[in-house]
Amino acid sequence: MSSMEIHQEQSSGSAKIGSNRPLNKTLHVVIVGAGLGGLACAIACRRAKQPCDVTVVERVPEMIAIGSGIHIPPNACRVMQHFGLVEQLKSAGGYVVQDFTLRRYKDGNIIVEKPLGERVKREYGADWIAIHRGDYQNVLLDAAQRKGARIMTDTEVVDIEQGVDESEGRQIVVLKDGRRIDADVVIGADGLWSSMREFVLGRPMPPVETGDLAYRGTFTRDQLKSFHDPRIDGLIEKSNVQVWLGPSRHAVFYPLRNKTEFNLVLLVADDLPEGVRTAQGSLEEMGKCFDGWDPTLTRIISCLNSALKWKLLHFKELDKWTKGPVALLGDASHPTLPYQGQGAAMAVEDGAILGVLLTRLQERNLSLSPKARNGQLTSLLQLYERLRKQRTEINVSGAVLTREFYHLHDGDAQQERDSELSKLPAAKWQGPSKWNWGDAAYQKSLLGFDVLADAENRFDEWARKDPSIVLRSTL
Ligand SMILES: Cc1cc2nc3c(=O)[nH]c(=O)nc-3n(C[C@H](O)[C@H](O)[C@H](O)COP(=O)(O)OP(=O)(O)OC[C@H]3O[C@@H](n4cnc5c(N)ncnc54)[C@H](O)[C@@H]3O)c2cc1C
Repeated sequence: MSSMEIHQEQSSGSAKIGSNRPLNKTLHVVIVGAGLGGLACAIACRRAKQPCDVTVVERVPEMIAIGSGIHIPPNACRVMQHFGLVEQLKSAGGYVVQDFTLRRYKDGNIIVEKPLGERVKREYGADWIAIHRGDYQNVLLDAAQRKGARIMTDTEVVDIEQGVDESEGRQIVVLKDGRRIDADVVIGADGLWSSMREFVLGRPMPPVETGDLAYRGTFTRDQLKSFHDPRIDGLIEKSNVQVWLGPSRHAVFYPLRNKTEFNLVLLVADDLPEGVRTAQGSLEEMGKCFDGWDPTLTRIISCLNSALKWKLLHFKELDKWTKGPVALLGDASHPTLPYQGQGAAMAVEDGAILGVLLTRLQERNLSLSPKARNGQLTSLLQLYERLRKQRTEINVSGAVLTREFYHLHDGDAQQERDSELSKLPAAKWQGPSKWNWGDAAYQKSLLGFDVLADAENRFDEWARKDPSIVLRSTL
């Protein structure tokens, strides 16, 4: 019997899903959260020759396209290449970003233009794509379903218990409506306010304020065209990311959905009370933050019809990401300021690596004894944590440094920054820089590192060396 079948057994008044299974040769992976990281994990677990059984549990009633623009930098695009999804992403409105332009806040004068397009593809082996978050999620959702992942919407996970008796060695995922799902492995992909994080750490660990908040929104091409402003018309036609840098704030603008929609994010000092995640601000207040800035930008800002404030949060490296066969991924374990365009990318890398490790273990020799299997999975997830923690922490702290770089007040440090940046094109973006944004080695390690190839190699090492694993055992 496949562990993907649903068992609606009545047990003390609550239904069980997939209970009373003997341990079989196929792992049942339950993923909590159908965000970008959770869906990437589902695809990665299903695309192997011997796929895992996958159930994704998502609390929203319906998967509707929420959010605005998001980046798929080359490190995440490489994962999409492995999944065979790059063309679908492009058909869904994703496009290759040609250029990343930094501008002065006062007049919009260009500080530096960093070419992406072909250069990025050549140097890092994959494109830099921009897309609407909802379209990205739909492509991943569709791929996960086509590959056979079960998606349960309108279903909230409230706890994880240890299996006993016939469920010994398994994790019991407890749902809000009382139903329970037996799993070999549970992945907490439940985002910034993760409850799985509390389960793994054994204590609450709310994310920490970064000092910034974001206003985000999209608007139409017609809105921009109505200004009859040649500078705005010029920006509309480019497949570029435009960033205006100013004291303690910045603005990011780029097209979406074949240039029929445009994305604007305004990053300013956080003035929300502690503990408030989002709040409706006023358009007037939002506009005032950019008084005296480039008139092209202030016109673009006037297209926003909502001023929802999103507090931006993060935290320093967690003590651990795993508890037995339960692991965290994405924003649940390493939320970040979005200033390197890497929040979703790191979540996607996490999910893809988990898929490699779990399916490789399953292909090798998964133990059929509950205790031994538990040991194998615990050790494997610890390997995942070792593979990911340093890289994601470098990203979180790198984004903090980028904040400093973006938000310099006018003065010596800002002039030094602008002068250094203006020299980067002559060095063909190959040299060192004080700032991550322009430092070739940093960019190469962030964007060019093949995390999947690395995971394959590290799995082989682990399988050879880890004394707690008897890979040949099928007791
Ligand atoms: C609604 C939304 C809109 C966003 N918009 C943007 C944007 O426009 N631009 C941008 O750059 N970033 C945006 N982000 C953030 C970005 O998507 C994430 O930072 C990044 O993709 C990492 O995602 P993740 O998979 O770790 O978590 P998330 O994308 O946050 O996904 C977590 C998922 O888990 C689900 N979940 C949480 N708790 C439970 C539970 N107990 N049981 C079941 N399901 C649960 C949530 O409903 C959610 O779908 C948005 C995030 C969200 C949730």
